[in-house]
Amino acid sequence: LRKQLQHNEKMNVLSELAASFAHEIRNPMTVARGFVQIMKQGGLSEDKRQIYNQMVIDEMDKAQSIIDDYLSFAKPQLESIDLVDAKQLILRALNTLQEFADLRHVSVETDMQDRLMISANADKFVQCIINLCKNGIEAMPSGGKLQIVASLQNQTVCIDIIDNGVGMTQEELGRLGTPFYSTRGKGTGLGMMVTYRVIQNIHGRIDVTSEIGKGTCFSILIPSLHTTSYH
Ligand code: ADP
Ligand code: MG
Repeated sequence: LRKQLQHNEKMNVLSELAASFAHEIRNPMTVARGFVQIMKQGGLSEDKRQIYNQMVIDEMDKAQSIIDDYLSFAKPQLESIDLVDAKQLILRALNTLQEFADLRHVSVETDMQDRLMISANADKFVQCIINLCKNGIEAMPSGGKLQIVASLQNQTVCIDIIDNGVGMTQEELGRLGTPFYSTRGKGTGLGMMVTYRVIQNIHGRIDVTSEIGKGTCFSILIPSLHTTSYH
């Protein structure tokens, strides 16, 4: 009976998600369609036409990001769980983000212990680190410093991702990870949801402390060398 309940709960979450997913994807489609319709009627100045054109592209990009982020969440659970070094995977994530950080005048500093072994799917773990670091960088619109501190404490791998950006209120903190909750123009509000899920799946947890105008610290805690059975 308990298994059945769990299964039902999962299905509920999935169908709720599918419904809001459809809604979120319909919005940009409707807006883009509206602009194309106006352009079709003709008689627009070249300036206006350019602006509308860009808006259609932006809305299409938005729909694309939602699909990309959703798929990374909904992908069939066939990925392998391996013994991996969190430090190496964090470095991989930071490498991917280097240009993104440079463009926003964010310097990245790391202080990491060697060999932080965890059981995880490498690609998904890298994606989580990218999501959190990207959020940190985006929280510092006029530049700043992103710090990543990682160490082993009591058989737990602890990873702190610290920004000195805009911070969040208590209310905003409470909404983190809710599908489609985003305060950003081009945001999807799926990054945190995916991140929480992935870390939960490897028996870890994420703590957040944040202060408005000061910054935010995300702490990821993952049992080291935890052997997971696949489900
Ligand atoms: P997205 O980045 O697409 O908006 P996320 O799920 O990654 O979606 O994040 C959801 C929201 O959480 C963001 O829009 C932002 O309001 C808030 N947030 C996440 N990380 C931070 C951070 N480091 N500092 C301030 N706000 C944050
Ligand atoms: Mg994000």
